[in-house]
Amino acid sequence: MNLKPRFLLLTALLVVVSATAAWYASRQLAEGIVAQWAVRYAEKQVLYDKSRLLQPIVREIALARQLFNSPEIRNWARNSDDPELTRLAIAEMESYRMNFADRSYFIALLESGRYYHNNTNDEFAGKQYRYTLSPDKVADRWFYDIVRQRRDMHINVNPDINLGVTKLWIDLLLRDGDTILGVAGTGLDLTRLIHAVVEQTQPGMTSLFVDHNGAIQAHRDQRMIDYASISKTAADRKTLDLVFDRASDRAAVRAAMRELASGTNSVISRFVEINGKRHLAGVAYLPEIDWYEISLLDLDVLLPISSFSGILLVYGLTLLAALLLFNLALGRQVLRPLMRLDQAMQEVEQGRVSETLSAADSPGEISRLIEHFHRMALAQRQARLDLESKVEERTEALNRLAKTDPLTELLNRRGMSERIEAEISRGRRKQSHIGLLWLDIDLFKEINDQHGHAMGDEALKAVAMTLRSLLRPYDSVSRWGGDEFLVLTPAGDARDVNALGERIRAAIADTCGLPDTSGAPLRLTVSVGGYFADQGEDMESMLQRADRALYDAKDAGRNCYRAYIVDPPPVS
Ligand code: GH3
Ligand code: MG
Repeated sequence: MNLKPRFLLLTALLVVVSATAAWYASRQLAEGIVAQWAVRYAEKQVLYDKSRLLQPIVREIALARQLFNSPEIRNWARNSDDPELTRLAIAEMESYRMNFADRSYFIALLESGRYYHNNTNDEFAGKQYRYTLSPDKVADRWFYDIVRQRRDMHINVNPDINLGVTKLWIDLLLRDGDTILGVAGTGLDLTRLIHAVVEQTQPGMTSLFVDHNGAIQAHRDQRMIDYASISKTAADRKTLDLVFDRASDRAAVRAAMRELASGTNSVISRFVEINGKRHLAGVAYLPEIDWYEISLLDLDVLLPISSFSGILLVYGLTLLAALLLFNLALGRQVLRPLMRLDQAMQEVEQGRVSETLSAADSPGEISRLIEHFHRMALAQRQARLDLESKVEERTEALNRLAKTDPLTELLNRRGMSERIEAEISRGRRKQSHIGLLWLDIDLFKEINDQHGHAMGDEALKAVAMTLRSLLRPYDSVSRWGGDEFLVLTPAGDARDVNALGERIRAAIADTCGLPDTSGAPLRLTVSVGGYFADQGEDMESMLQRADRALYDAKDAGRNCYRAYIVDPPPVS
């Protein structure tokens, strides 16, 4: 895989990993902050609700206590048969009735079982003594339960389903020292208060009240309320156990309730699970009525995941932008120079040198790499050029050798043939003529035979030297083979050729001066045939005619020059 897709893949992986980590970390952080905040919120809320609910109840309890501690009631309770005390007590009750929020009261005496009561409408004016309680009657059980439990105060919630009201009964034990005289109390319509607390509309917030047994006394959902708790067995009660999913949460809340009842704390909060969702439960004790308020905060509502999506989106986009920039920079700084380098290498491979490759716009390491490569490419090119010129030189030398006779260093037959062909085509272009002289050493075999082969070679070299000295730069001379030489000369007419032929013959015959083996001058002559060629004539024909002239020279006794003579037409 190329670098670019590799880096892109790596970038994508980085985005995913770090976005996941950021999401997890920010969620943990936010949860921590919200949990702290939620604890405080739950604690404040529970204390606020407590005071709202307690205020009127406390007032009623205080008023009821005041009534039951009044001398009129106490005296009468001890002597309930006394008509005068009864009258005074009832008068006292009636005067307090107007102060009770509910405008109602009841007093039940244990000894006589008498039950006194009047209500809001003053329905029982003059007949406050309603009936006599009996421990055998189911309807009267509440009274005997309270007495048996010996709790100074009992608060009982009794919703009237038909009227749609929730009545709170405040029952106080009327005591004379250890002796229980009876139970007295008043009612309080909690409907409005409970509605205000338990039906508060903040989303994600639920409040409920439980008694000291954990039985639910007030809840937004009426079906959850444990009506007439006092007379129920533990198994029948609707307790806070119904609220929490996990046994550990139930135990924790009950432990919190015990801790609160001991008075060390005013509020305790615990994380719990309700219907599979995480909640924060704030628990407060209401000692005046021996109830507990539990406020439940739904953390999913207070801490919706969607509130993080914005932060996460911004983070994700920033990260993506940063990584794209990184990739862009990587592309410009590394990948593009590398690609150019790669291209330049291919060019070098194909024998070219890249002129466009520049190290200037690349960072340190890449710049150095490009510079090194540049130097290497130039050195390689120089080496190649050197090699090429050497090869050329050698080829030229080889060519020269191939066209040169090694003994005399004149052109050989091949070299001369090329010259003749070149001169023929030049003659055609320039309308010029050429002349050919064909030389053959006379009786050369004898020189070999008499003086040895080496002397023969010397004789060949001496002829070559003489020829070289006689010829002009534009003439060409070659050893055609054996003891034969061929001279090519550009000529104006046949006379020029003849003159040169004769001059050569004479020069060799006169000036060779080569001493033979005995020291005497070696006799060395040549016969020469000459031919002034027609324009457009081919080499073959020229050579034949020059050879013919040489033959004539030999035939004429050697050491002479003969020009080619056209055969006379046959005599008929
Ligand atoms: P003619 O006058 O008719 O030419 O008689 P000639 O003896 O020269 O006869 P011809 O030209 O046929 O003889 C050529 C001789 O040249 C034959 C050969 O032995 C000799 N020869 C050829 N090449 C060389 C060479 O490289 N060195 C020497 N020393 N002799 C050579
Ligand atoms: Mg010869």
